[in-house]
Amino acid sequence: MTARVLVVDDIEANIKLLEARLMAEYFQVFSASNGQDALDICAKGQCDIVLLDVMMPGMDGYEVCRRLKADPKTMNIPVVMITALDQPSDKVAGLEAGADDFLTKPVNDLTMLTRVKSLVRLKMVTDELILRAESGKESGLDQLVIHNVNQTANERGKILVVDDRTSSYQRVVQTLSRQNDVSVITDPQEALFAAAEDGYEVVIISTALKDFDALRLCSQLRSLNRTRMLPILLMANPEEEAMLIRAIDMGVNDYIVRPLDPSELLARVRTQIKRSRYNDSLRDSVQQTMEMAIKDSLTGLNNRRYFDGHFSSAFEKAQTSGQPLSLLIVDIDHFKQVNDIHGHDAGDDVLRQFAARIGKNVRNLDMACRYGGEEFVLLMPDTDIHLATVVAERTRREIAAHPFIIHGGTKQITITVSVGASTLDGIEDTRDAMMKRADVALYHAKRNGRNQVVSDAA
Ligand code: GH3
Ligand code: MG
Ligand code: MG
Repeated sequence: MTARVLVVDDIEANIKLLEARLMAEYFQVFSASNGQDALDICAKGQCDIVLLDVMMPGMDGYEVCRRLKADPKTMNIPVVMITALDQPSDKVAGLEAGADDFLTKPVNDLTMLTRVKSLVRLKMVTDELILRAESGKESGLDQLVIHNVNQTANERGKILVVDDRTSSYQRVVQTLSRQNDVSVITDPQEALFAAAEDGYEVVIISTALKDFDALRLCSQLRSLNRTRMLPILLMANPEEEAMLIRAIDMGVNDYIVRPLDPSELLARVRTQIKRSRYNDSLRDSVQQTMEMAIKDSLTGLNNRRYFDGHFSSAFEKAQTSGQPLSLLIVDIDHFKQVNDIHGHDAGDDVLRQFAARIGKNVRNLDMACRYGGEEFVLLMPDTDIHLATVVAERTRREIAAHPFIIHGGTKQITITVSVGASTLDGIEDTRDAMMKRADVALYHAKRNGRNQVVSDAA
């Protein structure tokens, strides 16, 4: 893994020391000797993680961190605070400033590298999600995310502890229970099942399980779809460094070394929960964006863009398999008059109800889409022209027979449709030609007086 690391320290020798260690692992290293320079570099978006000295003249590390986390453009950059004072209160101060992690001077190589790798990996997931969310949403993303993080930051977390030593897990439960709902499961296989089923936000696993390799459980958690993203925090003993390196490579998110420091445990769990809630909210937003890209927002039917792609694959499949494929273009008659007489909102109501009725009338296999303003297309795989006209006629009759409700239920109007049908015609046929034949049929239906179905006499 390679990433851009910003080291911030007012003492040049400290920078050089960290720089050498990071460069040996092929990280790209930048440095800043004061808070303002650090903020400027981050604002340019050129860094993936910040290692931040707490004690600096002028703006101290806490203030730099607070400002980074308050700015939507930089809030996603992980910040590791480096403190010389090994006091729990400093960790709490860092946590309150929004820091993602803490290191104590003199900095232990392994600890620093594993923390940096794990945080950078998380940031990459987040970056990718932001990119996808932004590509669909021109604006409002920052607001959406901030809103969400602040909203959920104080909600109780749901934590699973996998540990079979009573004295050990009792301490963990005691520490975490004030802010979280904590469950303990002593059997690793049972824990795996619970992790997949019960919606936990973090799993804390002891490396000292009797007769069971904790890394096996970690790898199982990473390979199941339901738990692939679930943050894992290991509780390890000081002599287990080699194992921790493997664990982080495997995708374990963080670890804490015994004897447990309660404020550190709280801080690490909070960080994992905060990050994963943030990513979940981004993922929801991406999901929404993708739905927006294929759905028509007024009617909820698929849009034309989606139809084009779908038609292409359905057409190819029908041509190679020799199965029939038919399509209908359904166009509302004199729809302009609905708008003119009853208003545009009434027109929208009609379109929505119309889409719902079409949706109800078709099989799962069929695909309905809003092709243009008041023009809908129904694509029917494995359907010949005879069956297609039966469906078309049934739809036409149903629309004409039941009035549409407008003006909030105070008024009803009768709507009719004209339908043009066409069907796939052999190996020489093309999508454009098939579409065109339905369009010509529709034109005839309109010219012959509307409220009727005409099928293409290919
Ligand atoms: P025809 O029977 O020949 O199809 O006549 P028509 O009036 O239905 O067809 P025309 O193409 O002349 O007009 C379609 C109208 O549909 C014009 C447009 O303002 C209206 N329209 C298109 N999209 C929407 C929409 O999303 N909401 C509303 N309310 N009206 C729309
Ligand atoms: Mg029309
Ligand atoms: Mg029209």
